[in-house]
Amino acid sequence: MVREKQFAYNLIDFIDNSPSQFHATNEVKKSLDNNGFKELTFSDKWNLEKSGKYYVIKNGSAIVAFVIGNGNIEEDGFKLVGAHTDSPTFRIKPNPEIISEKSYLKLNTEVYGGPILSTWFDRPLSIAGRVAIKTDNTLKPKEVLVDLKKPIVIIPSLAIHMNRKVNEGVNINPQTDTLPILTVIGEEFKKDKYLINIVAENIGIDADDIMELDLFLYNTEKGSLIGANEEFISIGKLDNLAMVHAGLNGIIDSKVGKATNVLACFDNEEVGSRTKQGAASPMLRTILERIAISLGKNKEDFYRSLSNSFIISADQAHALHPNYPDKNDPTNKPIINKGTAIKISANQAYTSDSMSIAVYESICKSENIKVQKFVNRSDEKGGSTIGPISSAQLDISSVDIGNPILGMHSIKELGGVKDHYGVYKSFKKFYEI
Ligand code: ZN
Repeated sequence: MVREKQFAYNLIDFIDNSPSQFHATNEVKKSLDNNGFKELTFSDKWNLEKSGKYYVIKNGSAIVAFVIGNGNIEEDGFKLVGAHTDSPTFRIKPNPEIISEKSYLKLNTEVYGGPILSTWFDRPLSIAGRVAIKTDNTLKPKEVLVDLKKPIVIIPSLAIHMNRKVNEGVNINPQTDTLPILTVIGEEFKKDKYLINIVAENIGIDADDIMELDLFLYNTEKGSLIGANEEFISIGKLDNLAMVHAGLNGIIDSKVGKATNVLACFDNEEVGSRTKQGAASPMLRTILERIAISLGKNKEDFYRSLSNSFIISADQAHALHPNYPDKNDPTNKPIINKGTAIKISANQAYTSDSMSIAVYESICKSENIKVQKFVNRSDEKGGSTIGPISSAQLDISSVDIGNPILGMHSIKELGGVKDHYGVYKSFKKFYEI
C-alpha cells in the first residue's frame, strides 16, 4: 500500500501542477526531459535511432512520446497508450470584463466540454492557460504559459432564501448564472484590459505585447487522499490526467523491447477531438509514419507495422454510485479499487472487442491486476472517448479501458489509490511485452 499511496500522491502533484491542458503537456515534457527523452519538432528532419527516446509537442497542448524498439517495426509494430490532456472547464471570452450594477466586475466565460456546473459554485478559482506574445515574425508569435495561482475569482451561489426550490434541482444558465466575480470597483474604474493587465504583470511583460489569450478557470483547492484507509483520491481532472500520468510513468519505467512504444496525449477530447491536436486529426498517424520513414522503412513496411500494432485507449469509467445503484448496468457494476474497467459498447462507442479484451485481460492477469467490465445501461447513452475516433484514423486493434471513478466531470472527482497503481502496472507490462 505504501508504494500505491506514494504513486497516488505523485498523481495529485501532477494534477495540481496542471491547471490547463497547456500546463499538463508541460508537466509531461518535464518528466520526459528528466528521463532522457529528446524533444523533436514537426519542422525538423528526424534522425531516429533504435532504443532512442523522443517526444514531440503539438499546439503546446498535445504530446506524443515514443521509445524506438530494438526489433523491426514491420514485424514488431507499435504499442500505443492513448489519453487526453483536457478537462471540462470555463474558457474566458475576449473582452471579458462586465460591470454589474456599477459595482461588481465579472468575467464573461463560456463552457468548455461538459462540466457539472453546480460543482463550480463557491470555489476559490484561479485562471491559467497560454498567452500569444508579439514577435518580429508575424507568423510565429511567442507562446508563454500563465498561471495566476492565487484564487482571484469566485462564482457565488444564490442564497436559499432567494430560491427556496434550490434543493429540488436548478436550471443553470451558462451565460448569466456562472460568471465569476473578480472585484468590486470604484467610480473612477476603467475596465478596458483589466484582466490583460493582471496577466501581463504576472508574466512580467508589457500588456501591449499580448496579442491573444487562451485562458481557463480552475479550482485552486488541492487534491487529497480520503477514506478510512486513505483509499480514495479526491481531485479534479482524474478524467483524464490520471491516465496521462499512468501512461507517462509506464513508458518511462518500462524496459525497451522489440516493439516501438508510444504514449499519445491528445487535446480537445472533451469537445469532440476534431482539432489539429485532437484524436480525429492525422497527428498520430503522421508521427508513426515519420518514425517508419526515419528508420529507413517504406510505405509497405509502415502498413505492415500497423497490422502488428495495438492501442490501449485509456479514459476513465463510471463506478457504481452507492447512493444511485440503479444508474449502472444490472450485471456489470465496477467498484472503486476493485480493478481497471474494460469498456464495452454494442454501438462501438468503445473500441473493445473480444479479441482486444482478451489481450488486455492477459496482460493484467500476468501481473495479478484485477479487471472489471463497464457497459452502459441499455436505456442510457454513455460518453465516448478517443478510442473509436483514433481508430478511424489508424486501423489498429484497440481496447478501451479506464478506472472506475465517481462524479465524472465534477470539479472534484473520486477515484481509487489501488486502481491507479494497477493501471500503471498494466501499461508498464504492455510496453515490455
Ligand atoms: Zn475523458
